[in-house]
Amino acid sequence: DAVCAAIRVMEDAPEFNAGRGAALTSEGIVSMDSCLMTGVDGEVGSACGLTTSKNPINVARAIKEKTKHVMFAKPGDNLLKEWGIELCDSEYFITSARQESLREAQSNGDEWEKHGTIGAVARDASGNIAAGTSTGGITNQMPGRVGDSPLPGCGTYANNDSVAISCTGIGEAFVKEVAAHQVSDRVLYAKEDPVEAAKAALDGVARHHGDGGMIVVPAHGDGAMVFNSEMMNCGWKSPKGSYVQS
Ligand code: ASP
Repeated sequence: DAVCAAIRVMEDAPEFNAGRGAALTSEGIVSMDSCLMTGVDGEVGSACGLTTSKNPINVARAIKEKTKHVMFAKPGDNLLKEWGIELCDSEYFITSARQESLREAQSNGDEWEKHGTIGAVARDASGNIAAGTSTGGITNQMPGRVGDSPLPGCGTYANNDSVAISCTGIGEAFVKEVAAHQVSDRVLYAKEDPVEAAKAALDGVARHHGDGGMIVVPAHGDGAMVFNSEMMNCGWKSPKGSYVQS
């Protein structure tokens, strides 16, 4: 609930690359991906190629909770309505700032260093952790391209024995590195500290010529943000207080 609530706020805000204000494909439309995973049961839902869902994270949750499947590509509006998903016309998602970024990318070459994908990770009072990610992908991406965000174990992962993690960055590099699952494995099997595990996975991402960042909430202890991109906005709230870095 907390992960989805946080993500919906950012999907509704046009500043972020998800929901309203999502990055535009080379055809000038949105193609949004999302994923939600709970660590207590390893259940996960993910969707890619969404063009009409106001809150893509709600689609991931519906897939996780209302179907026996993990991933849907371009689920039709009728199915989305059946799942109770609020639908919007394509104009709702397209902002003039994103149109300008697309124009720039198409005239000056792609600027893949600009990300803006959103994610949330949380741990509840019983120690259950969850992770969610929502994105419009990369500005000027080819129609049909899908990045790491909706792929469980690549851009999103949660396991109550290790970590909940959500990634942002050049999706192709995160997929090749199986980045999110790698952090979990390092913590679970190699007993690495979650921050060191995330840094090591990002080093692997860099070897695939990618950059980006991760937010991590471990099964025990403090959450962390780790990135090798120029910057990453992040905020957290815990019983000890709250913190925002932007
Ligand atoms: N990881 C996302 C993707 O490759 C993009 C991003 O994080 O900005 O689709």
